[in-house]
Amino acid sequence: MSKPIKHIVIVGGGSAGWLTAGILAAAFRAGAGAGPQVTLVESPDVKPIGVGEGTWPSMRDSLSAMGVSETDFIRECDVSFKQASRFDRWVTGNDEDSYYHPFAMPQGYGEVDLVEQWQLAPGSPPFADVVSYQPQLCRQGKAPKQQATPEWAAVANYAYHLDAGKFGVFLQKFCTGRLDVRHVLDNVTGVNPAENGDIGSLETRHNGSIEGDLFIDCTGFSSLLLGGHYEIPFISRKDVLFCDSAMALQVPYANDDSPVESNTISTAQSAGWIWDIGLPTRRGVGYVYSSSHTTDEEAEAALQRYVAGTGQGSNGGRDAARKISINPGHRETFWHRNCVAVGISAGFIEPLEASALALIEMSAAMIRDDMPATRESMDVISRRFNERFRYRWGRVIDFLKLHYVLSQRTDSDFWRDNRSPETIPTRLQELLELWRYRSPSRRDFYEIEEIFPSASYQYVLYGMGFQPETAVVNTPGAARFAMQYFDQTRQTTGKFLAGLPSNRELTHHVAMHGMPKI
Ligand SMILES: Cc1cc2nc3c(=O)[nH]c(=O)nc-3n(C[C@H](O)[C@H](O)[C@H](O)COP(=O)(O)OP(=O)(O)OC[C@H]3O[C@@H](n4cnc5c(N)ncnc54)[C@H](O)[C@@H]3O)c2cc1C
Repeated sequence: MSKPIKHIVIVGGGSAGWLTAGILAAAFRAGAGAGPQVTLVESPDVKPIGVGEGTWPSMRDSLSAMGVSETDFIRECDVSFKQASRFDRWVTGNDEDSYYHPFAMPQGYGEVDLVEQWQLAPGSPPFADVVSYQPQLCRQGKAPKQQATPEWAAVANYAYHLDAGKFGVFLQKFCTGRLDVRHVLDNVTGVNPAENGDIGSLETRHNGSIEGDLFIDCTGFSSLLLGGHYEIPFISRKDVLFCDSAMALQVPYANDDSPVESNTISTAQSAGWIWDIGLPTRRGVGYVYSSSHTTDEEAEAALQRYVAGTGQGSNGGRDAARKISINPGHRETFWHRNCVAVGISAGFIEPLEASALALIEMSAAMIRDDMPATRESMDVISRRFNERFRYRWGRVIDFLKLHYVLSQRTDSDFWRDNRSPETIPTRLQELLELWRYRSPSRRDFYEIEEIFPSASYQYVLYGMGFQPETAVVNTPGAARFAMQYFDQTRQTTGKFLAGLPSNRELTHHVAMHGMPKI
């Protein structure tokens, strides 16, 4: 007899647990209560990691599909709008060394190769400025939409910067209040296996055993079910991406109307990089570094120097930074028997492109879309899930490594070691070889839902000054199209700059008056 999937148990109440609960429960609830019941068990003693402030535009789809109000989300999670990442000092380490990886696709993406035409005009503005309006919006601290733009809609593609602690509380309230997610505040103390090797139930300290048909491990670094119970091996990727530590600080603004940046700033350091994220009420700043290349004391000193150097408010060195250890890598498989890991329990790599929350959203969406009706079909689905996410982790690693490989910095072993050929994944080496003769294209990334499209590779490659080895081919007819698109970028940039409020103005407006509903 087929065993129907009636009860899903999620362990862990960090961003992974609550986002997964919300994405699943919203879909099940839409099916007139016919879907499985969702229970989330969360330890009252182990706090969520409480960092993770940069998101992708996919977060708009995830939250709106749950039925969240964007106004409530912005008000309650201390949210500002994010349109890009800016990378400072990654190429030469000099003051003027800076480029953008914006969320908006290049103009004409997929229709015509604008890289070629941009390269034929030496001395033209940076690649991202020629193909996208977004770097200019970021430089001027603009919001991605107007006060009259409805919830979730965009003038310029956008994501969010948010307070991770408040985000967890917000999702918990929404999932329990609106989506009928059952919340159990208790420690899972053991796993009771079923006869067939599945997880039958979980033992808790105060609530007895909790039975389920599918168990989702969102227990963060402890990976209680997949790593702990099933002993699925962890594959370290420290040989490729060296950063294994972080120091995080919260920094108040100099005054209440200090500008709020519309992009994450990532500034390269001698042993890693510092993130700088502007929320409406404070900045979140942290140094991600390799413990093989610097000490905690040096890292903290570099972080405090960075904060003081920005001249935009500081904590006066009062608060010590919070140290977080990172083990870069991922599990060998993510879904084993009736247990699937989502979030840090599945893996974690330095947050250089803020891909962790996006991977959580993608994992939860795939579990939702392929939700097995019975236990019998689960093994087919888990094989597909593992294949898909093995590919995705590989692409995250390649893309992050690209940022290091293209650097010309020679000021420390960290940068020199990062360019050693034995640390560069083969697939990335092959792509870099191909790109000596042509620009990254959709042919290089063939999945329908690629985690980083070729457009992202173009932004990083040409932002970092990558030069093809042969003269570019001037494809007939391409020049005319390219000129049209370049002109379109200029016009759109001018129009958006004139019509958009600042990031600070828009978040303030939403706090006071909300956003129109669609
Ligand atoms: C320095 C740093 C910066 C980051 N920046 C970004 C970023 O900008 N963008 C981004 O997308 N991501 C970022 N991330 C990643 C992001 O923080 C995580 O992916 C996200 O918070 C999800 O974490 P989690 O829910 O998997 O784990 P956690 O937040 O650690 O939650 C684990 C949960 O498991 C529960 N638990 C553990 N053991 C038990 C038990 N025995 N019984 C019951 N419950 C248990 C805990 O109580 C907790 O609720 C960053 C991470 C780090 C370290």
